Amino acid sequence: MTKIFRALSLALAVAITIPATTSASWPVQSRTSYASQYYHSGHRALDIAATRGTGVVPLGSGTVVFAGWRNNCGGYQVWVRHSSGRYSAYYHLSGETTYSGEYVTGGSERIGYVGSTGCASGAHVHVEVWTGYPWRTGSYRVNPWNYVDSGYWLPTRYR
Ligand SMILES: [Zn+2]
Repeated sequence: MTKIFRALSLALAVAITIPATTSASWPVQSRTSYASQYYHSGHRALDIAATRGTGVVPLGSGTVVFAGWRNNCGGYQVWVRHSSGRYSAYYHLSGETTYSGEYVTGGSERIGYVGSTGCASGAHVHVEVWTGYPWRTGSYRVNPWNYVDSGYWLPTRYR
């Protein structure tokens, strides 16, 4: 009995220490797009510059929890909930092509277009990865660059 319990405890300990997700797709449909600003303490996101109108796709598959305009400097934006419990958010879009509740496929299904809506000086998408629901007390942002390592559109220089 004790032995079985010990084995179960060990299995549980292993299960909860495995990272939730370790891979994400490049979220802009252009191999000439590029990282224009990385994550740092004053910018908890990854900026990817591309020509206005270039398609934006989610880092991974998930369910859209917000799509539309917000007065938070992000302009038109889309937020996606992933099965890992993480969220990703895409800002400054010229417009979105999805809606709240839709399931979207990572790396391939267009959710909007690169733009400069909100407080953006040029065409780019500002990508955030959240642990916890975006902007809620207790939630925090992590570095997207730690996950973006795959996808059809990943520029050659980042492979
Ligand atoms: Zn940014």
